[in-house]
Amino acid sequence: MATETDILILGRGLAGAALAESCRLRGLSVHVFDHKRDGNASMAAGGAVNPVVLRRDVPSWRAAELMSLTRAFYGNWEKHLGVHCWYSRPLVKIFPTPNEVKQWERAMAEPGTAPFIASRPETEIDKAPLNAPHGYGTVTGAGWLDIPVLLDAQRADLLSSRALTERDVDEKEIMTVPDGVRIGEVKGRWLVRCTGPFATDPGLVPVKGETLTVRIPNMHLTRMVHGSAGLLPLGEELFRVGATFKWTDVWEGPTEEARTWLLGKLATLVEGPIEVVGQNAGVRPTARDRRPILGRTGPVTAVINGLGARGVMLAPWCAEHLLAHLFDGKELAPEVDHARFD
Ligand SMILES: Cc1cc2nc3c(=O)[nH]c(=O)nc-3n(C[C@H](O)[C@H](O)[C@H](O)COP(=O)(O)OP(=O)(O)OC[C@H]3O[C@@H](n4cnc5c(N)ncnc54)[C@H](O)[C@@H]3O)c2cc1C
Repeated sequence: MATETDILILGRGLAGAALAESCRLRGLSVHVFDHKRDGNASMAAGGAVNPVVLRRDVPSWRAAELMSLTRAFYGNWEKHLGVHCWYSRPLVKIFPTPNEVKQWERAMAEPGTAPFIASRPETEIDKAPLNAPHGYGTVTGAGWLDIPVLLDAQRADLLSSRALTERDVDEKEIMTVPDGVRIGEVKGRWLVRCTGPFATDPGLVPVKGETLTVRIPNMHLTRMVHGSAGLLPLGEELFRVGATFKWTDVWEGPTEEARTWLLGKLATLVEGPIEVVGQNAGVRPTARDRRPILGRTGPVTAVINGLGARGVMLAPWCAEHLLAHLFDGKELAPEVDHARFD
């Protein structure tokens, strides 16, 4: 006898994990299949959440809507799991040129951007060994998700209710049956593929990213920093530095080339010694037009993908948007409909 569930989820990076959580909130049963393949995006991600596109100082796509959902969703989820993994955390942009100071001043007068940014003294930045001759501005509405803590806690929760099978699923094992889909001994009314960069969805472009973990003596920051490189504080003088973007040889893993490039960028931002203690690589599932890829792909199948470089902020919205489409008959926002690439 097959176990019956509402939804089978294939892949448990941020997309599949957020979908499982959204299902729980709606009272839908799930069974998740996941095997951590090398290059998966979520285990490589820093977890920064930033509602501002810092090259132009404009809000990112649907920033206000996504940020309020992001805070509520992860805040509620960490309470359910009994762990602390969501942190409201300002991000400080170090201005690379005087022109960027003017761009920031203009952004502060824009009603769409103003709620997220400020120009204010940041004592810890002033005290840190950072090179910032043109000053800085603060993204006040930013945050950080400790992804490993969240994914580990959800894993334990799903395993305790026998809702997770940790193995690789071959496409040939996925059987369409009356009123649903079956994988092995589990049947679902729906199958949602959340397989990230391992999928072959039309419009999906894998983009490799590498980061370093470094120790910077005497640098005590709680804020994230965006300068010639990004700095994410991990505590105890440890920082995640990154990330790189590369569109070729995306599956080759950590490289000397990326390490050298990141250290070069870091040397222009940080004054003093830097010790490398780690390096990792992953592949972002990015859509050609930088929007998520969602929707029904068949009578009983659907997809969430294309979270790109902003997976933490996009995953809750994508999960809720897809479920509202499948179960409440709500129209998909056309800019995320996977059919745009057909
Ligand atoms: C270096 C780097 C830094 C980043 N930093 C940030 C950041 O600071 N903030 C941010 O918001 N985003 C960041 N991102 C982007 C973020 O990581 C992604 O948007 C997000 O993780 C994508 O999640 P996903 O679930 O779609 O894919 P994944 O995390 O790759 O998850 C897919 C899962 O499906 C599994 N899977 C696939 N096929 C099968 C199968 N057949 N059977 C079983 N399991 C399968 C995979 O092994 C994997 O576990 C970063 C990405 C990289 C690479």
